[in-house]
Amino acid sequence: MIRKLLRRVFKRGEPTPHPVETIGPDQHGIRPEQVLPGARRTCETLQQAGFKAYVVGGAVRDLIAGITPKDYDIATDATPDQVRGLFRRSRIIGRRFQIVHVMQGAETLEVSTFRAAHDEDTLKDEHGRVLRDNVWGNMEEDAARRDFTVNALYYDPARGQVFDYHHGVRDLQRKTLRMIGDPRARYREDPVRMLRAVRLSAKLDLRMDPTVQAPIREMAELIENVPAARLFDEMLKLLFSGHAVECLRRLRADGLHHGLLPLLDVILEQPLGERFVMLALTDTDRRVQEGKRTSPSFLFATLLWHEVLANWETRKKNGQLPVPAMHAAMDEVLDTQGEKLAITRRIAGDIKDIWLLQPRFEKRGGRAPFRLVEQARFRAAWDFLRLRAESGEAPQELADWWAQFEQAGNAEREALLKPETAGPKKRRRRRSNAKNPADAAESAVPPAPTSEP
Ligand code: ATP
Ligand code: MG
Repeated sequence: MIRKLLRRVFKRGEPTPHPVETIGPDQHGIRPEQVLPGARRTCETLQQAGFKAYVVGGAVRDLIAGITPKDYDIATDATPDQVRGLFRRSRIIGRRFQIVHVMQGAETLEVSTFRAAHDEDTLKDEHGRVLRDNVWGNMEEDAARRDFTVNALYYDPARGQVFDYHHGVRDLQRKTLRMIGDPRARYREDPVRMLRAVRLSAKLDLRMDPTVQAPIREMAELIENVPAARLFDEMLKLLFSGHAVECLRRLRADGLHHGLLPLLDVILEQPLGERFVMLALTDTDRRVQEGKRTSPSFLFATLLWHEVLANWETRKKNGQLPVPAMHAAMDEVLDTQGEKLAITRRIAGDIKDIWLLQPRFEKRGGRAPFRLVEQARFRAAWDFLRLRAESGEAPQELADWWAQFEQAGNAEREALLKPETAGPKKRRRRRSNAKNPADAAESAVPPAPTSEP
């Protein structure tokens, strides 16, 4: 009987049962006013209706660590239908993994019902990846199915207490990332946890416990079985965590970027590509940390640019004309990565816009520059050019000229224009001497990677 119970507990990924620790404000340090009012209200409404309700997961972890949470999750013993019934502005989302989105003012909170941990009935794929996970459970079971101890914390705003089943607060204070249960088993259930381990340890400056870190290298290839859309979401989280450079450093330190980030594999092997990507990521980290807007299309455009350039060069060497070769290179790179990462059509369109505007920066005569600054994507394309210049792939003088042109009034702009026939472009096609040079200027001929000194 006891053996059976132990086996059952062990199968659920938790070798020893943990008594819950109740932690007061002196120890966890969360002040109620730090907690998003909408999250407090949501818990209050559920509790008044007789349900349990807690802020859970990353938000509690971040609050204790003194970081402003990115999003708030609420865990409750109310079913999705019961939650839906309590909030007029709410909707149930997901079919298999039902959760409720509760709108409070401008905020959306994710409310999920306590889930049971996995057992032998859990549906998995042939690699052990969990495919279905919507059996309701109690709070303790819900805690056990979460990934890291620091993510299994439940905060009750009404009482100001944190409930901790796996010594998450202690681990957070000791700056250690520990898995709940056996890390290998948990990675098999969901390989995305490997990416989460890297991202969360970088974000919170935690040391991965050796048992968390060690299996990643050998298990990295399991990432290949993860559906592309989920991988894309996870990549976005990693790249926009505000700690992308550190994430990458950690991935590379262990040679993990090969398996985990196929996208970066080729790029980081070329010195110019690496410099460009690192500059782009540093810039993105700074923007995230300053609370500025960031754009996935811009970042993916930078990540893939050197692959496009290399692909384009090969095609030209094989005798293709520059313009069709460029379009084919863009499509091939986007198709290959798009399949792996489920880059949406809209994002792919925006990426292409940024790339296709690059050659147009070379036209500094006639009406072309005036038309270019009016383009919807000018700002993004110009930022892109600046990064190219900074990485040494485009001439700095070109980026400086555009900085001046952009700032200048109309008369000054006229004075800045270069004589059209003496443009800086070496790779000029015959058509650029055409009747209307602006037409030629706007054709999509990108600069060669090393076109200018
Ligand atoms: P952040 O929001 O800062 O990116 P997070 O840990 O809050 O990090 P979310 O995706 O918001 O990440 O997930 C909320 C919570 O859900 C986590 O804290 C964790 O408890 C649980 N969780 C998320 N992903 C997994 C997973 N793959 N396996 C187990 N539990 C998970
Ligand atoms: Mg979160």
